[in-house]
Amino acid sequence: MKQLFIAFEGIDGSGKSTQVKLLTDKLIAAGNKVYTTFEPTDSPIGSLIRNIFKGRMAADHKTIAALNVADRLDHLHNEINGLLKKLEEGYTIVTDRYYFSSYAYHGVHVDIDWVIAANAMSAATLKPDINIFIDVAPEVSMQRLNNTRGTIELYETLDNLQQVRNKFLEAFEKLGGEEKIVTINGNQTVGEIAEDVWKEVSRL
Ligand code: ADP
Repeated sequence: MKQLFIAFEGIDGSGKSTQVKLLTDKLIAAGNKVYTTFEPTDSPIGSLIRNIFKGRMAADHKTIAALNVADRLDHLHNEINGLLKKLEEGYTIVTDRYYFSSYAYHGVHVDIDWVIAANAMSAATLKPDINIFIDVAPEVSMQRLNNTRGTIELYETLDNLQQVRNKFLEAFEKLGGEEKIVTINGNQTVGEIAEDVWKEVSRL
């Protein structure tokens, strides 16, 4: 299998991190060197974003969108563990969220075309070989979040997740011509979703 850059997308509670882990294990078992990562990252910029999500710091949506642009550029270009460096070192990369999450989450509050334009440098630098959208009903993901999380973060309300899902669909419509996007039914069991994911990745 050639070295791939795989991005998982979806609303909170859609099962992304569960599938990122399962796919990583399978890719390693198939003999690949795999670097698993996520956005917002755990860099100082990503930590700032997480503090906003947790309500420890206030910022408006334009600022949050712009911080995500900076976090993504650092994710790509960081000289120690940046994605470009990891690809150069022969790793296949699996990321939990990339720029489509920005288009969807920030597009609810800020003009989506501005968000896409603000991320143009990242898109020009590194496009995923595949964007895997795990599509789950917002009611289902809210239920999962309520079951498992002690605190609910910014964005994690039913109304917002419905709007975010709609923005994902809008972004896929806008960019479907230039991006490889597959949608997987996230209302299935963990195992069924993992099988669908593996089928799509195997094709590459
Ligand atoms: P995300 O990373 O998209 O926020 P997670 O993978 O953390 O989602 O999943 C959120 C919660 O839902 C976790 O408790 C996880 O165990 C559970 N979960 C994940 N996938 C499924 C599924 N297909 N069916 C039922 N529960 C799931």
